[in-house]
Amino acid sequence: MTTTRFAPSPTGRLHVGNIRTALHNWMLARKASGKFILRIDDTDAARSKEEFVEAIRADLAWLGIEADREERQSERLERYEAAFDRLREAGRIYPAYESQQELELKRKVLLGRGLPPIYDRGALDLTDEQRAAKEAEGVQPHWRFKLDHDEPIAWEDGVRGTSKFDPKLLSDPVIRRADGSWLYMLPSTVDDIDMGVTQVLRGEDHVSNTAVQIQMFTALGEQPPAFAHEALLVGKEGKLSKRLGSLGCDAFRERGIEPEAIIALLARLGTSLPVEPIADREKLLETFDLSTFGRAPAKFDDAELERINTAIVHAMPYDAVKDRLPEGMDAAGWHAVQPNVSTVSEAQEWWRLVTGPVETPEFSDDDRAYLAEAVKALEWGEDPWHALTAKLKDATGRKGKALFLPLRQALTGLNHGPDMGELLPLIGEERARARLERAAA
Ligand code: GLU
Repeated sequence: MTTTRFAPSPTGRLHVGNIRTALHNWMLARKASGKFILRIDDTDAARSKEEFVEAIRADLAWLGIEADREERQSERLERYEAAFDRLREAGRIYPAYESQQELELKRKVLLGRGLPPIYDRGALDLTDEQRAAKEAEGVQPHWRFKLDHDEPIAWEDGVRGTSKFDPKLLSDPVIRRADGSWLYMLPSTVDDIDMGVTQVLRGEDHVSNTAVQIQMFTALGEQPPAFAHEALLVGKEGKLSKRLGSLGCDAFRERGIEPEAIIALLARLGTSLPVEPIADREKLLETFDLSTFGRAPAKFDDAELERINTAIVHAMPYDAVKDRLPEGMDAAGWHAVQPNVSTVSEAQEWWRLVTGPVETPEFSDDDRAYLAEAVKALEWGEDPWHALTAKLKDATGRKGKALFLPLRQALTGLNHGPDMGELLPLIGEERARARLERAAA
């Protein structure tokens, strides 16, 4: 069974890049009728906040990206401890005593010599006495995972194809701090094993973590899951912008962006499939395929999101929006204003044309006489607008703009707006007559 996971750290709100990763993992699972896990990576007690955990859940719920299961790393510490003990006994974890400054200095020296800044495994050369001396001085060790330099690392990446790493060119990663707290690398591997994750899809900033984690899986006696790394999301200008990193669900919602617009865009951005205003997730799922993902960064363009959003709003059925419409606005009302809005909340502005009050513009004497005719000609039936304009056309010989515009202006106070044939029945006879009379006076 396919099992995927989305593993945010609750140190902030989800941004559009995280949302994309969550969505793709959800889609992978749904498409395969598998399971999608929300894993809260909250081992960093100082920076993790409960309010962010709640916000992550709320954002995913708003987006309709529901998890089948939720897990929290802070509740699984004994699992990490057990794996740590096993790996330590197997000689795959060792204590290291260098301070930040010492490590920084080593890095600088290597870089200065034009060499890659790989950790020199100095800690492995310490004798028992030297280690005891360090600890007598009060230096607590941090812990590194010892990469196996003789085990070449390779995997078939779902997006990047065959990927290879020479372990000698990687530093043994620090997996645990001196205070006993965990860094991301080992807990994530333990979780992927315990939770039966079969497919890890994440950003390409994790590629070198994957190389390390593949050796961790093997060291723990497990087969690694399938890995795929998607190209990062960048702004239109091609850079990882600060703005993109802070662009989340609240900002989208405030602007009237529908979750389905975000989903439609992010599902296909950076793939070879066209980005289209598809509100039906089943349709998006049908074509979802990692083999369509490109290697080039996916460019997020706000204007494109707005276009998709407008198209999606124009196709939304009344039932999907009715809770957000102004009071009294029924299906006919939504149908009348729908082509004129780019967000659902704009329905409010157009609805004022129905409920009033509307402003009466200044008319020429000629138009006032014409509107007085209109008051007389107004008759309420099935289709009052077409009946009225047909009558006035015959009676006055006016046509086109001269026929329609003064009526629209008198009835709505505006030069443009929703189709009058739909709007007039909603305005109703009483209000329509009063507005025409006032304009004719
Ligand atoms: N918490 C990690 C992150 O947000 C998870 C990475 C992963 O998917 O393994 O980067």
